[in-house]
Amino acid sequence: MTTLADPVPGGRPGDVERAGALAGELTGRGVHGVVLAYVDTAGITRVKTVPVARLPAAAAWGVGMSPVFDTFLADDSVVTTDVLGSPDGDLRLYPDLDRLVALAGQPGWAWTPVDRITQDGERHPGCGRTFLRRTVADAARRHGITFKAAVEIEWVLGRETVADGGFEPAVPGPAYGAIRQVEVSDYGADLLAALAAQGVDVEQFHPEYAAGQFEVSVGALDPVAAADRSLLVRQTVRAVARRHGLRVSFAPAVLAEGVGNGGHVHLSAWREGTNLHSGGTGRHGMTVEAESFAAGVLAHLPALTAVTAPSPASYLRLRPSQWAGVFTAWGLEARECAVRVVTGTLGARERTANLEVKPVDLAASPYLALGCLIAAGLDGMTSRTPLPEETTGDPARLAAADAAARGVRRLPASLPEAVDAFRRDALLRDALGPVLADAVTAVRLGEAAAVEGLDDEQVAAAYRWRY
Ligand code: GLU
Ligand code: MG
Repeated sequence: MTTLADPVPGGRPGDVERAGALAGELTGRGVHGVVLAYVDTAGITRVKTVPVARLPAAAAWGVGMSPVFDTFLADDSVVTTDVLGSPDGDLRLYPDLDRLVALAGQPGWAWTPVDRITQDGERHPGCGRTFLRRTVADAARRHGITFKAAVEIEWVLGRETVADGGFEPAVPGPAYGAIRQVEVSDYGADLLAALAAQGVDVEQFHPEYAAGQFEVSVGALDPVAAADRSLLVRQTVRAVARRHGLRVSFAPAVLAEGVGNGGHVHLSAWREGTNLHSGGTGRHGMTVEAESFAAGVLAHLPALTAVTAPSPASYLRLRPSQWAGVFTAWGLEARECAVRVVTGTLGARERTANLEVKPVDLAASPYLALGCLIAAGLDGMTSRTPLPEETTGDPARLAAADAAARGVRRLPASLPEAVDAFRRDALLRDALGPVLADAVTAVRLGEAAAVEGLDDEQVAAAYRWRY
C-alpha cells in the first residue's frame, strides 16, 4: 500500500534513517544516482537526480524544482495564467522510499516517484501525485471504498537511424505475430528480466496491432502505486530498448493514420475487502454500487477526455473502430465501448472483475487520470446514477435513435472540444481544485494553439518522440 501521509520538512517519521540505510545498500549494489520522477500537467515525466549519498538529505528536505513545470507544454514552452506559469518560487521534491527501486535496465541508477510540497511545508496544489493520494484517502475515509488499478502500456519500436524524427518500425511481422516475437527475442527477454528484478508482476507481453507495436500488462495495485508503476514500466521499456539500439514512442499516435498507443486503465472498487464488480445483483455480476460507479465514469467521460487524452495527437488515436473506445457506451468484453466490463474467468471473478476505461493514452498523467476517474465513479455511486442499457458490437454502427436511447455519445473529437466539456464539468474541476483545474485548461489550450494550422501528419510528427 502507498503511504498516504504528506511529506513534511525534516522528513516523514523514520524516513531519514531509512534513506541512510537504503543509500548504503544501493552503494553496495553499485548504484550511484537516484532518479526523482514526477509527471507534469502536459503528461511529460520530468526528473531530477541526486547522488546516492544525498538520498537522506532528499528524504529530509526534498530537492528543489520550479513550479513553472505545472504549465509546461510537451514541447517545453510555457503558458502563463493569473496564478500559474510564473518563473518565481521553488518546490521541494520528496522521494517515496517505499517505491525506491534499483533500475535493472539502467545499471548504476535507482528510481523513485516524488510528491511536491512548498518550501513552507504546505501541499502543492499543482502536484498530481498528491491529488491522487488525497482522492484515494478521501474515498476510504468518506465512503469506505478502496480501489485496485492497473495501466496497460503500449509502445512502438522504431529504428534509431531514421532521419528527421521520422518513424520506421524496427521489426517486421503481423499483429500478435510469432515473427515479431522472434524478432525482439533478446530485447523481450531483457525487458521481462528487468521488470521482474524491479518487482513488477508482468501479466503479459505481446506484439500489438500496429506496425512495430508491443504491449505489457501488469498486476493491479492501489491507484497511487499503479500510477507509479506505469512510470517505472515506461522508464524500463525505454532503457532496455536503448541498450538494444531501438527507439521507443508511447505517443498516442505515432503516425496520423491507423491504430495508436493506448494506456487503458483497469479499475475496481472494493468495500471491506470485497470486489464490488462481482457477486452482485446487477448486470454481469456487478453490485448496484459498481453499476453506478460505471455510470458515473460514463457520464463524466466527455470532460474526462481533457485529462485522459491530453495531447492534440490523442485525437488522431481517438477515432471510431480503432479499439480506443470513443463512445460513451459500455458492454461486457466490448472492445469498442469506452467502458469495457471485465468479469474474468469463472472461479476467479471475485478477484479479477473490473472496469477497463479505453479512451486513456500515455500522454496522460496517470495520477490525474486515475484521480479524476475515481472522482467521476464516486459521483455516480453517491448520486446512484443508473447505468444505461448495454451496447454490443461497435457503437459506431448504432442508428442515431438507438444511440440516443442508450445515452451513447461520441467523445470529443478534438482537444478544444474536450476542454469545453471539461470547463462545464464542475465535479471534475472541484475534485482537481482550482490550481490543477486551471493548469489542465491552460496547458490543453496551449497545446491546441501550438498545433494550429498543422495537418494530421505534422501533429503526429510534433509529438512522436515527446512521450
Ligand atoms: N492500441 C489500441 C488503443 O489505441 C488498443 C488495442 C487493444 O485493444 O489492446 O487503445
Ligand atoms: Mg492493447
